[in-house]
Amino acid sequence: MRTAIIGGGIAGLAAAYELEKARAADAEVEYTLFESRDRLGGSLSSEIVNGAVLERGPDSFLTEKPSAIELCRELGLGPDLLPSNDAARKTYILVHNRLIALPDGLMFLVPTRLIPTALTRLFSLTTKIRMGLELLLPPRPSGLPDEAVAALVKRHFGSEAVDRLADPLLSGIYGGDAAQLSARTVLPGLVKMESEYGSLTRGMLAAHRKMRAMAKASAKAKGQGQAPAGARPAPRSIFTSLRGGMQQLIDALTARLDPASVRLATPVSSIEKSAHGWRVKADGRTEIYDAVILASPAWAAGVLLAPVDAALGEDLSAIPYSSSITVNMVYDEAKLGPLPEGFGFLIPAVEGRAMLACTFVHRKFLGRTPPGKAVFRAFLGGMKNEGLLAESDEALVATVRRELKEILGIETEPEHTQVSRWRRAMAQYAVGHQERIARIAARVATLPGLRLAGNAYDGIGIPDCIRLGRKAARELVAAAEQQPVAPSL
Ligand SMILES: Cc1cc2nc3c(=O)[nH]c(=O)nc-3n(C[C@H](O)[C@H](O)[C@H](O)COP(=O)(O)OP(=O)(O)OC[C@H]3O[C@@H](n4cnc5c(N)ncnc54)[C@H](O)[C@@H]3O)c2cc1C
Repeated sequence: MRTAIIGGGIAGLAAAYELEKARAADAEVEYTLFESRDRLGGSLSSEIVNGAVLERGPDSFLTEKPSAIELCRELGLGPDLLPSNDAARKTYILVHNRLIALPDGLMFLVPTRLIPTALTRLFSLTTKIRMGLELLLPPRPSGLPDEAVAALVKRHFGSEAVDRLADPLLSGIYGGDAAQLSARTVLPGLVKMESEYGSLTRGMLAAHRKMRAMAKASAKAKGQGQAPAGARPAPRSIFTSLRGGMQQLIDALTARLDPASVRLATPVSSIEKSAHGWRVKADGRTEIYDAVILASPAWAAGVLLAPVDAALGEDLSAIPYSSSITVNMVYDEAKLGPLPEGFGFLIPAVEGRAMLACTFVHRKFLGRTPPGKAVFRAFLGGMKNEGLLAESDEALVATVRRELKEILGIETEPEHTQVSRWRRAMAQYAVGHQERIARIAARVATLPGLRLAGNAYDGIGIPDCIRLGRKAARELVAAAEQQPVAPSL
């Protein structure tokens, strides 16, 4: 089976790695990985400057989703996996230019602890009363149409909770806009709880109790009995990264591929379905493949597939994307003065600033910044401020420095700065996403040998992209060997 993989981001690389494994296991597999840029990795890219790991794109992945950790282990990167320093985890929200810590007991935007919620300065008294009354909400009928995250949060906790909680948290994760993101896709657990319990707080507390009871029962079944008083098992860190940065994963994957199968700086300009397979055109040459894995962003896949299937092309092209900018700044820690404890802060759009968030990198991942240095990573752009992409590096650094001075009082000059622009890199799961994905999957199922992978479909983060890339490749190998597996995108 000859396969063309279009796009050498993490999804395309995971697919290529899987095909490479099949080839090593004697499957009759050949592949070509086409990447339009002159490097592999897509959004994953890090650089080490004077011993400090600077992430241009993602800095880590969610620990609870296993696909990324499994792949790292398979590639021999197990010893380099680095958990986030969760003992120091504390995140602030900027409110009227003051940093206010997120109250304890917040679970997926839902306050679950009375005293921290009552005492926090994040919300006004009116919002706190509303949060209390939320406990009385009756169940909502299931099967209602999808709605925006902002609408769901507002119905339960009011618009201040949208502005100061949902909006900054979601723009920090998706570079997105709570008024557009699909509640059913982004917060499926909350939608389910709403139909079961009405109150999200009651639903979340019930889920928490259930999880604790299950953990206790499983410990008992394993014969561990009651843990000694005070001896709680250490919680897993929320994020995991790599000691040398996310680039380590890209380098390890690249090292497993046959260099002759990788074509850098070679954008695919068209694909066509023919009686003999798929005609893939790149660099003025047309070649025939049995299968195609489209691992480019959905907007690029939409352009390539429109001539093959107009409805499919239209649905893919309609998936919105946001752009973002990261600015890394390395400082001499002694010159910074005291910083608030924790990992950094998020900035609600209503604050009217260019920055969306700022991470204190040297605190989040220990051992990736030399002693005596501090690294700040600022995020800018997002759905509401795409215009910033056109600004020069100098202007962006000046903006971040001005805002850091106003928020943290930092005036000292950074020793090093690095600006990265990510145009249309983050898919947005807008209201109606699931219906659109179902239509896309149905059209793809009519086109034998075609698979889609990447962040536009079933998870925006690195683990989901890896999972979909590997799954696409496995399905094609199985189909070529006549071993049907459950079809997917
Ligand atoms: C700034 C930033 C921070 C992030 N932080 C995190 C994080 O901390 N944790 C996390 O889990 N996720 C994070 N994400 C999200 C995650 O990094 C991405 O969703 C994921 O890397 C996307 O991978 P992909 O392979 O789907 O797409 P991409 O990385 O976009 O790769 C697609 C590739 O396709 C290529 N391509 C496009 N068209 C063609 C063509 N016609 N021919 C050939 N090649 C083509 C592109 O050049 C690109 O290299 C972040 C993303 C960004 C931008």
